[in-house]
Amino acid sequence: MSGLEDIGARVAGAARACGRDPAGVTLIAVSKTQPAARITAVLEQGQRVFGENRVQEAQARWGERRARFADLHLRLIGPLQSNKAEAALALFDAIDVLDRDKLAAALAEGAAKLGKCPDILVQVNTGEEAQKAGVAPGEADAFIRAARETYGLPVKGLMCIPPADEEPAMHFALLAKIARRNGLFELSMGMSHDFETAIRFGATQVRVGSALFGAR
Ligand SMILES: *Cc1c(COP(=O)(O)O)cnc(C)c1O
Repeated sequence: MSGLEDIGARVAGAARACGRDPAGVTLIAVSKTQPAARITAVLEQGQRVFGENRVQEAQARWGERRARFADLHLRLIGPLQSNKAEAALALFDAIDVLDRDKLAAALAEGAAKLGKCPDILVQVNTGEEAQKAGVAPGEADAFIRAARETYGLPVKGLMCIPPADEEPAMHFALLAKIARRNGLFELSMGMSHDFETAIRFGATQVRVGSALFGAR
């Protein structure tokens, strides 16, 4: 079994185990820093949804591939500086890391200029870690409202990266709860070591890097 088939089977298995439709969980292949040959192999096996964490690295890697694979779907899952908002809007099909007003303003301005806006997820810093991006859980409702109403952004859901040294389940549960009370349906949560748990807590997108491609 290839890495992709193996992970796909584990995603589907985790969904079925909690009574969910496997089609309701999208596997995002996190290709950051992976060698080109590994990415090509996964593309050839049919994977089309990829996550990258840097705008410039993604431009270099996907610019040309994008022309060859029309159904490619690229998501930005790493920190975005507001001066790169326009470049990110031009390249990505979704930006999953909105977490502050300045970035919301830059995305709104860029989207108006380009005449298009990809789907947006708000990143929540569920563990309230100082070094981590994301809006604090207590500020999430107000920020989501501002992103939608003040900036007119198409916010579709939430994303989180739980603290590395804590049980992720409580963070996944918190993210799901914030999404529910804000009428949001997309939940990007779960990585190589905890995506099955995330699916149990309602993840609609799991971000899998090393378990799929091998160690970085
Ligand atoms: C790198 C990265 C992942 C993938 O991590 P793995 O543990 O290799 O699966 C997922 N999400 C984000 C935001 C990342 O930066």
